[in-house]
Formats: sequence, structure tokens, C-alpha cells
Amino acid sequence: MAIDQQTFAIVGAGFAGAKAAETLREEGYDGRLVLVGAEPDRPYERPPLSKDYLRGETAREQAYVHPAGFYADNDIELRVGESVVELDAGRRELALDTGERLRYDRLLLATGAEPRRLSIPGSELGGVHYLRTFADSDALRERLTAGGRLVVVGAGWIGCEVAASARMRGMEVTVIAPASVPLEGVLGPEVGAIYRDLHLEHGVDLRLGTGVASFEGDGEVHAVRTQDGAVIACDAVVVGIGAAPRTQLAASAGLAVGNGVLVDGRLETSVPGVFAAGDVADHLHPALGRLRVEHWDNALHQGPAAARAMLGAPGGYARTPYFFSDQYDVGMEYSGRAVDWDRVVFRGDPSTREFIAFWLGAGRVMAGMNVNVWDVAESIQALIAGGGRVDERRLADPDVPIEQAVLGEVAS
Ligand SMILES: Cc1cc2nc3c(=O)[nH]c(=O)nc-3n(C[C@H](O)[C@H](O)[C@H](O)COP(=O)(O)OP(=O)(O)OC[C@H]3O[C@@H](n4cnc5c(N)ncnc54)[C@H](O)[C@@H]3O)c2cc1C
Repeated sequence: MAIDQQTFAIVGAGFAGAKAAETLREEGYDGRLVLVGAEPDRPYERPPLSKDYLRGETAREQAYVHPAGFYADNDIELRVGESVVELDAGRRELALDTGERLRYDRLLLATGAEPRRLSIPGSELGGVHYLRTFADSDALRERLTAGGRLVVVGAGWIGCEVAASARMRGMEVTVIAPASVPLEGVLGPEVGAIYRDLHLEHGVDLRLGTGVASFEGDGEVHAVRTQDGAVIACDAVVVGIGAAPRTQLAASAGLAVGNGVLVDGRLETSVPGVFAAGDVADHLHPALGRLRVEHWDNALHQGPAAARAMLGAPGGYARTPYFFSDQYDVGMEYSGRAVDWDRVVFRGDPSTREFIAFWLGAGRVMAGMNVNVWDVAESIQALIAGGGRVDERRLADPDVPIEQAVLGEVAS
């Protein structure tokens, strides 16, 4: 069938889905294009929801991916507030919760991820928040405005950013997490300690090395009991204990699923003609192996890459993973992926909060994080992608260009 007679469908009107739709039109696809999103809003970006938007510093309008007229102007059928409830991959058909059935020729699953929930006594109490959507951020923003005491469960990115935003709005904040330092899972104990000190300096009460046993209250949460027996009075709780990929549609349609919807190097699933991108995709990265990346940059680039693959373009997705975080006046960018490393090398003094940290394995840079140092992420990514062995002394020396830390590279 001629491509202009075809229907391309995208399930999930988040960042990845919206960028894929944009790319399909940019690349000249002129068939029918349907973008289905369960949320009531048109596609928006989530990073502000734990930062400036949560603190009431920026407007909703700034978070949207496209201006309101973009979808109609580009002949994209945007269905907000509608969910796909079933995928029939054999018939190439979607069932929507409106009762409609939609035939497609190519499909992109961009269903994202959802917060992992705590299931402990008191989980159902009012005032226990999760954070994923505008609605979640709006509800939490009201709490921040009211002031009082906030308990944050989890010391990952969401937990740390919410703790920072709540302190910046004047709330008393306690963070509870089993880790020994914040962000330990990604950054390790050495660099995580920098974030521990940052939060302590800003007056956060850190209760680390313990978990949450129960929430106490009568309708509304008024205290949190930790596994080591402490009882912390509070007016609200935010739970930030990670997110799980929304794989249900794919799994019940018989697509291969691992830590997400399994896709090959071109972002195609086990069923030809069906692709996945963004938080939901468990992608086969050419250098890093199987990888599911839950970050803004991945949605920004995988959505378009999947769109091109839907149009039959060759080539795969090989970007180095990248993300950013802002807490108080400390901004950072992290490139690469370090799971096991031999050592961390610092360029600059971490106590000044203006430095770069490099995670090294077998003499090579696996990941790098620039903190309040800008315009270096691309150089760090090139170093990681190049895969060369580095000279640690030069890597640590701010006067040596980052690229020239590779053994054998000399200044020209
Ligand atoms: C509070 C917060 C702060 C963040 N901050 C940062 C940051 O600072 N830096 C960073 O790099 N990353 C950050 N992220 C991560 C980043 O936002 C995500 O990686 C990104 O949103 C992933 O985009 P996505 O389109 O893959 O998925 P999502 O954004 O989850 O969008 C998926 C959409 O699909 C819809 N959907 C799901 N199933 C269906 C269905 N069956 N039918 C119809 N629609 C469906 C969902 O409702 C959702 O709207 C943050 C995330 C959150 C929640």
C-alpha cells in the first residue's frame, strides 16, 4: 500500500511520542498519523515537575512540547484523555477505551513508565504523594505552598529534587532511604556523599540506612515510622522509589518483554512493524548492551530515531546515555553509564561544587558528571564513545582539554 494511504499510530503522548510524531511529519510521512495519550494534557516534559514548576516559578505553558496548534497544523490526530486498552499485533489493531478500534500499518509504543508504589500499612492515607504527572505536581505544589513538614521516601533523583524544592519553599524536610548516601545506586558512595553534604547544608534531615515501615494517620498521614523504629511527624509524604516501564499492552499482545519492551538496535520490537522508544524501551545498544534509560534526553532522541526506523531508514540508535539534575544551586549533567568501576577521578575540587567526576574501569572512562561546569558534556561523551585508555593525571588536570586525556593524544 502506498505510504500516504497508511496509518501510523503512536501509543503514549509523552515526550518520546510527541517527538516521534514531529519527526514523522518532518521526514515527509503524509499518511494518517494518530497519537493517543491517556493524560488530559497535550504532550509535556516532566523535568520541571520536580523543579521550577513544582516551586511555582514557571508556568504550565513552558512545559509543553509543542504549541497548542501544532498537532492540528501538522495533521496529527492527537487523542488526549484516551487510552489504548488492547493491542492485537496479528490484526494490527488497537482497542481504545472509547470503544473505537484503530487499524495501523506501523505502531510506536511510547507508553513510558509509572512510579513504583509502596505497599505498607498506611499507604492509602491522604497526603501520600507520588510524582509523575502535572496533576501530581499540582497536588504537591499545594502542599509546598501550605508549608509544614514533608517526609520524602527515597533518595534517588526524584526524592532529592523534591527535597531540594521543598526546602527552597521553606518546608521542613526529612529524607528516608536504605542507601548510605543519596543517589548511591547511580553515583556510588564517593560522589553520593557530595549530595549528602549538599542536602545537610540546606537543613534536610537525612535518615539513611533505613526504610519505611508504615505511614500513620487517620485519613491523612501525620507520621512515618521507619524500620529502625523512629517516628517522624509530618504533614505530607512524597514517595520516590523508582519507576516501572508500562509494558502491559506489549506483554499481553505477546511481544518480547524484559526490563521494558525489548527492541533491537533500530528500536523495533519482536513483532515487525511495531517499535518502542523512551522510558518503556529496553534497547540493544551497540556498545553498552541491553539498556533501558529513564531520562529526558533518551526520549528526545529515541522518539525521532524510532520514527525514522518506522519509515524504513537504516541505522540504529547509539547515543551515549545522558541526563541532568538541578538541586538548589547545583546543576549537573551525567553522561555514560557506570555500573562497576575501579575508581573515580576528579577534575577540580568537589568541595567547591564546581568539578567533573569521571568513573573509570580498566583505564577507560565509563561515565562523567560535570557539576556547575558547562559546555563539556559533548567532550565527555566523545571520550566515553572513543573508548580509549586515559592518563589519569591529565584527566584530573583542568588545564588539559578533556579530549587530550586519552593516552597517546598530545596537544597540537
Ligand atoms: C518528576 C520528574 C522529573 C524528571 N526530571 C528529569 C531530569 O531532570 N532529567 C532527566 O534526564 N529526566 C528527568 N525525568 C525523566 C523524563 O521525564 C522521562 O525520561 C521522560 O518523561 C520519558 O518520556 P516518555 O515519553 O518515554 O514517557 P512518559 O513521559 O512516561 O510518557 C508516556 C505517556 O504515555 C501515556 N500512556 C501510557 N500508556 C498508555 C496507553 N495504554 N494509552 C494511552 N496513553 C498511554 C502516559 O499517560 C504518558 O503520558 C523526570 C521525570 C519525572 C517524573
